[in-house]
Amino acid sequence: MRLFGCQILRRGDTKTPKIALTFDDGPHPVFTPMLLDILERIEGKGTFFTTGRNILDNLSLSEDMVRRGHMIGNHTFDHPHALWSGRGKLHDEIKKTKELIEELSEKPNKIFRPPYGFITPSMLSICRQLELSIVLWNSNSKDYKRDVPEIMVNRVRDKITSGSILLFHECHFNKPSLDYSGTLKALKSVVDIVKLRGLHPVTIGEMFTL
Ligand SMILES: [Zn+2]
Repeated sequence: MRLFGCQILRRGDTKTPKIALTFDDGPHPVFTPMLLDILERIEGKGTFFTTGRNILDNLSLSEDMVRRGHMIGNHTFDHPHALWSGRGKLHDEIKKTKELIEELSEKPNKIFRPPYGFITPSMLSICRQLELSIVLWNSNSKDYKRDVPEIMVNRVRDKITSGSILLFHECHFNKPSLDYSGTLKALKSVVDIVKLRGLHPVTIGEMFTL
């Protein structure tokens, strides 16, 4: 759907056996490499909505993610809530991160995910101006609640299906000491189901030909 000229993506084609596994707030020096290994086991590619700050703090890991065929998306520089950020600040946050991602991946950054999934009119106008599509999800593991992995898996289980965009987190955006190993355990089960259902995990770029 389009809102004020800005494309908002929530779900892909339900007839093609492709699924998008998306991960927010990283990269994280411990959890992200383990997560990449889980994806590699099923030859899957993921989309990582990173903050500019975490890219800078984990530069070689970010380069490795690109090298391994994953897609990096924009999640602002410092993860502000759009409601409490003026247009100027929000613009700088998104533009600075866009430039970082483009330098890293050597191609245009075309996707953005709003922190907290919260969209404002200024955000829409900034995204239109910077040629960014907004990527949401149709199933949220709510792993930030840090329940046992089985609960996270059960939240997304029905949506492990063609065209789905699943939401996970690699870490907490500014509390790197929080333990996200539960997400890794949940992801192992999710990729088993993905495989069992004959789905292929692709990047958002591949799902929507961006
Ligand atoms: Zn976030």
